[in-house]
Amino acid sequence: MAQTTRTLEQEFIEEFPGSRQRAMHALESFPAGVTHDARYVKPFPIYITRAAGAKKWDVDGHELTDYAVGHGSLILGHNHPEIVEALQRQLERGTHFGAGHDQELEWADWIQRLVPSAARVKFTSSGTEATMLAMRAARAFSGREKIMKFEGNFHGWHDYAIRGEKLPFDAPGSPGVPQSSWDLTVVMPIDDIDAVDARLAEGDVAAVIIEPSGASWAQIPPAPGFLLQLREVTKKHNVILIFDEVITGFRWAPGGAQQRFDILPDMTTLAKIVAGGLPGGAIAGRADIMSVFEFRDDPNHPKIVHPGTYNGNPLSAVAGAECLKRVADPKVQEHCDAMALRLRSGFNKVLVDRGAQGVCYGESSVFHLLLGVEATNMVADDVRRPEGLTTAVLKSGLTGKLKSSFISGMMISGSDITFGGGWLSVTHTAEDIDRTIEGFDATIVRMQGEGLL
Ligand code: PLP
Repeated sequence: MAQTTRTLEQEFIEEFPGSRQRAMHALESFPAGVTHDARYVKPFPIYITRAAGAKKWDVDGHELTDYAVGHGSLILGHNHPEIVEALQRQLERGTHFGAGHDQELEWADWIQRLVPSAARVKFTSSGTEATMLAMRAARAFSGREKIMKFEGNFHGWHDYAIRGEKLPFDAPGSPGVPQSSWDLTVVMPIDDIDAVDARLAEGDVAAVIIEPSGASWAQIPPAPGFLLQLREVTKKHNVILIFDEVITGFRWAPGGAQQRFDILPDMTTLAKIVAGGLPGGAIAGRADIMSVFEFRDDPNHPKIVHPGTYNGNPLSAVAGAECLKRVADPKVQEHCDAMALRLRSGFNKVLVDRGAQGVCYGESSVFHLLLGVEATNMVADDVRRPEGLTTAVLKSGLTGKLKSSFISGMMISGSDITFGGGWLSVTHTAEDIDRTIEGFDATIVRMQGEGLL
């Protein structure tokens, strides 16, 4: 990076004029100017024209190494040639038949082959729909109404998912969510199995849902052993355990976190990688629970309602099947994990060498970054779970000036880490990672120069 008296944010604003102009235009169309809350960043979000592999190019001609990879969905990188080819073939055959088709059968076959808990499958159009549907299925099967979840865990944006997701975890309600819906979600702190046990003993909980990585793809990792305890305690109380594998599915292992940790949930929710980068989601689970979708003559059968115009649509089906065929090879996850490990360790080495407070952490093929705080177990190496920091600090992630300067610095040096963390793909190379670490070093030095660290 050239010597400059400009701050990182000033330099970013000057170097990304096309994005700035579009971000201003966007304010006339979209409230807040964005189409996904997480893309609301300062000084402004960038605008992209095309992408390939681990790279994307913005409207001002910058080449960026992408650590957003379709919000984690593109584990094979952008525009995998065989997925593109399958989509082109399918476009010529038709995009919606209003009927069953071989592509949805093949897609489901791959899910059943890979995901240990997938005795039966139903398709949805997104992860939000998947968790909403899994909750309804669990309620119908159990005859109970409440859903237990954990602080900070993200399960999409519907009324039963958002309680306890954002800080403060004990907020009494949320604008737009009826109190009666809010009250049906029970939020627990992570790692306190006795509290979970005692609450489940009250007998009104239909299902416990959890991101098996810990909240927001390992941002608040559970203590080792907690997931297994949760499996035991839900079994003891005959409560359905749902693993929300929208991110971890096919990423933590070909069979997701349930395979990596060898713990079998009763139900699983999937999206992102499952649809190969197209819109789509699924729920999968035990055949007896999934029987609530069956049409039966028995008037006492608890059949739940589930239409959905784009469920199992042919385009998502072919992209999903092509993708799952490839992620079935554990070398995909091994490569992504190795690249993430290289990145986390490299960032931590920079922080230690530069004497800057912060930590980069995570597991599998993801990473999270905190700056301006000190983890007691910080090393110039990999960190899975930063110690000595509250769950609130972990959940906050990067905020304010630290966030906007960091994102600006990384963009200037050629890496998109808009979310203050990110995901790796099979197309990221060691050279990509090393260049990003160099950019990180330059950014940290500049931030120190600005008195931010
Ligand atoms: N569950 C988890 C764990 C997620 O990370 C997400 C999205 O990031 C969702 C559910 C919601 O999925 P979607 O954005 O497809 O609605």
